[in-house]
Amino acid sequence: MIKFKHPHLEAEFEKLDYRLQVQAYALVGFLQHKFGVDLVVTSCIRMEDMTSVHYYLCGLDFRESEYTAEMKESIKMFCNHFIYDENRPRKKALFHHANRSGTGQHFHFQVFPSSDTTRIKK
Ligand SMILES: [Zn+2]
Repeated sequence: MIKFKHPHLEAEFEKLDYRLQVQAYALVGFLQHKFGVDLVVTSCIRMEDMTSVHYYLCGLDFRESEYTAEMKESIKMFCNHFIYDENRPRKKALFHHANRSGTGQHFHFQVFPSSDTTRIKK
């Protein structure tokens, strides 16, 4: 299931770009089926930074600390079947990074705000 670090995040999740919600539901289905684990959402909408996809309801962060190295590799493999931007293949739908403070490793999952569609590659 999809769990939320803070209760208000559930309402934010429901406001996200629907492509991103669909991707998150696909990912949690994969995680449940393959490993029996949940997805814990830690951040959705952030209005303080217009350069972030979170501002455009197109970014979602989730916790990585409860996953094994094998699970993390599977998550990356699964999520990067989603194409972020066909014109910029180096931009990924999912990446793993620290907060700007340099702490708090997490996964960041995103869809491209300037597109209406998301494609899935082989
Ligand atoms: Zn993020």
